[in-house]
Amino acid sequence: MADAHNAFVTEETIEGDDTGPLVGSTVAVKDNISTEGVRTTCGSDMLADYVPPYDATVVSRLKEAGATVVGKTNMDEFGMGTTTETSAFGATTNPVDDERVPGGSSGGSAAAVAAGQADYALGSDTGGSVRCPAAFCGVVGIKPTYGLVSRYGLVAYANSLEQIGPLASTVEGAAELLDVIAGPDAHDATTREEGADSDYASAANGDVDGLTIGVPTELLEGADDEVRRVFEDALDAYRDAGAEVEEVSLPSVEYGVAAYYVIAMSEASSNLARFDGVRYGESGGFEGNWNESFAETRAENLGDEVKRRILLGTYALSAGYHDKYYEQAQEARAWVRQDFEEAFESVDVLATPTMPVLPPKLGESVDDPLRMYLMDANTVPVNLANLPAISVPAGESTEGLPVGLQLVGPKFGEEQIIDAAALLG
Ligand code: GLN
Repeated sequence: MADAHNAFVTEETIEGDDTGPLVGSTVAVKDNISTEGVRTTCGSDMLADYVPPYDATVVSRLKEAGATVVGKTNMDEFGMGTTTETSAFGATTNPVDDERVPGGSSGGSAAAVAAGQADYALGSDTGGSVRCPAAFCGVVGIKPTYGLVSRYGLVAYANSLEQIGPLASTVEGAAELLDVIAGPDAHDATTREEGADSDYASAANGDVDGLTIGVPTELLEGADDEVRRVFEDALDAYRDAGAEVEEVSLPSVEYGVAAYYVIAMSEASSNLARFDGVRYGESGGFEGNWNESFAETRAENLGDEVKRRILLGTYALSAGYHDKYYEQAQEARAWVRQDFEEAFESVDVLATPTMPVLPPKLGESVDDPLRMYLMDANTVPVNLANLPAISVPAGESTEGLPVGLQLVGPKFGEEQIIDAAALLG
């Protein structure tokens, strides 16, 4: 099938086992998830020719479940972006409207599902990268609780924040894929026992009678009118089905974007140090001492957004500034976590618009980093608190653009959010 939206960096079929729940199903895999023998570029020139010698745990699990992997999907370089425009392999376009971005950073994965090029896809979500493209492309995406899914073989961007998550056209489909990839892994010490015997797919019933849904007022304030209208209509559907909707307050989320970007960039500056042209990455054959060669290979092979983040992250961690930025951000993170915990004492799940805006046109936001970062206001607090969340299509704007509703659950509360999301999709 022609790749009209540039959803794939590499189209290559990897056959799974002959038996298992995913026999006959196709899965597209984000290009920062290692596939043995198939190049894994992270959307970067730095890894344009990198072929991993092993499979990520999630890929082994897909194969054992009988899935056919159909290729590696396009993404913002190293996961850094909200539009899939920072990829060294060109932007992916939104199958709903070709002039618009598909969201990011897992834009290729969402576009592949929306365009019918794969039944399912895997993305990674550090600050919204599964939920954002799911919302912009009109599909379903889940960001699991930290520790539910193994990160072994996921190329790290900000390891304390990220999880691999499933995308599909229905809630049940995404839940089925989550069943396959979830559960502890000896290769990733941050995985937990919870989820070992999961049956998320059978939780997708849309049974919300008696459910209490909290709406954090702070995360509704900045949303576009159209987004807000579709969101309010969806809340009415929940009320009609027997749920109770109440306002809650999460005062700390005002600092969510700032804390997220300080932490994500700090971790990135350390994680990306391995791309030096010696251990990993294009060497470019530069001569001179190691420092010069390291600088040249990175100057040549990394994109502007990645460089910006390495520089800012290095700055935030440097002696003298560490207390002022990194530690402050960690304190804000603890406050966000505590705010969510308190909210879940009185409500079962939280609901917000996934993205406060409709999918922007290509080129509109990528040159304005601050504007791009602010688009993540509703998704990043969930990563700071290590909680599970799902984005489900809630309806369309008057122009016919998809709007996503995000449901956030308590730790390992995947079944609850899957059940509730199934009312809409
Ligand atoms: N847009 C956010 C960022 O650029 C989230 C990216 C992600 O989840 N990988 O960091």
